[in-house]
Amino acid sequence: MSLTKKVLLGMILGIVLGIGINLTGLNTEGSLVNLYLVNGLFNVVGTMFVNALKMLVVPLVLFSLICGVCGIGDVKLLGKIGSKAFVLYMLTTAIAIASALGIAATLGIGKGMNAQSSAEFTGREAPPLSQVLIDIVPSNPVNAMAQGEMLSIIFFAILLGISMLLVGRKSKPLINLFEMSNEVMMKMVGIIMALAPYAVFCLLSKAMANLGLDLLAQLLGYVLVLIGVLLLHLFVTLQLVLKIFSGLSPFTFMSKIRNTQVFAFSTSSSNATIPVTLRTVTQRMGVDNSVAAFTVPFGATINMDGTAIMQGVATVFIANIYNVDLGMSGYLTVIMMSVLASIGTAGVPGVGLIMLSMVFVQVGLPVEGIGLILGVDRLLDMIRTAVNVSGDAVVSTIVAKSEGKLDVDVFNDPNAGIIHDEDLDIDEAVEKEMAEAVQQSRKKS
Ligand code: ASP
Repeated sequence: MSLTKKVLLGMILGIVLGIGINLTGLNTEGSLVNLYLVNGLFNVVGTMFVNALKMLVVPLVLFSLICGVCGIGDVKLLGKIGSKAFVLYMLTTAIAIASALGIAATLGIGKGMNAQSSAEFTGREAPPLSQVLIDIVPSNPVNAMAQGEMLSIIFFAILLGISMLLVGRKSKPLINLFEMSNEVMMKMVGIIMALAPYAVFCLLSKAMANLGLDLLAQLLGYVLVLIGVLLLHLFVTLQLVLKIFSGLSPFTFMSKIRNTQVFAFSTSSSNATIPVTLRTVTQRMGVDNSVAAFTVPFGATINMDGTAIMQGVATVFIANIYNVDLGMSGYLTVIMMSVLASIGTAGVPGVGLIMLSMVFVQVGLPVEGIGLILGVDRLLDMIRTAVNVSGDAVVSTIVAKSEGKLDVDVFNDPNAGIIHDEDLDIDEAVEKEMAEAVQQSRKKS
């Protein structure tokens, strides 16, 4: 069975088991199932897996981006790729939120509803744009890496790559070192991905066992409209954008991105999914590393179509419940604020609600209103993260195609970049060679 099939199977079994545990009420606090299975085994395996993915993010982004910059060799082209990606990311996010606002307002969701806040929520104000810009330049790159601050890491890696180009031939050993490190890191991604079926099973069993199904039923209108707009964006808007700007087949794209979507769905984090997205767009879709190494981490940070859609639907829903008429100018502010908020916030679980609070402060909606939807956000976060990473991959593919940095044969080959079990077997001859090499260098020293 292929890895994609195994991962999908893990996902389905996890969802079925989790919902089963949920419906049978076995997951009560302190019960054996809760203690040893949901918060025990599933939690341990799932969190270890997410940690393993996160562990790869910083070194992978650093190495692949340095190689990408050196690989392009042309700083002007780098600027062109950056601006194209930025414009497309902002454009898709703006379309996402505008369609969410339009559909939710037309359907009048939340009108006449008397919902009870299920949880306390304290928001956060948006950091001023000036601060977001200042933070792009790290005062300490090691600290930026330790904190996983993606924009700072991107800045540092690009500058390092450019400096290596300027130093020229002498820096070739360094390029070789990074190139090798990148290849090794990519192998590591393959190893972690091979473990995904079990981890995805655990992550989803836990998430589903903990879902508040009663609350989901109460907020069914909100949940269904939101899921509807998310699916519309994923299957129609993004595919149209892909077809129009690149001419590539949306069907091929969708079949290749599925695995990455499952990772995003299970981890609720675009950031943790970066290694998988990067591997998928380069090895499965044929995007050159020089483009993907930049557009993927950049997109995971600044591009959040799914999150923007949630913000649009939630704004209308809560405004209607509180009987606030936002008017056209209010809607425009929401669009602007959510696009801006997405730039300064990283793709990690639940960050969408914090961004929503920034939007609420700006348009004068009560931030505590977010407490109404807090209880159902876990599931919605999973779905919107899958949409977020799909947007990153669409834009990466378009930008690569437009710059002649996409291998169309790889894109069209259904088997390109698939992980096979044999890929993870260590060759005995290689083992011997490596051992001999170590012995020899020891003798020398
Ligand atoms: N979890 C989302 C992501 O990582 C962000 C959010 O909507 O909360 O892309």
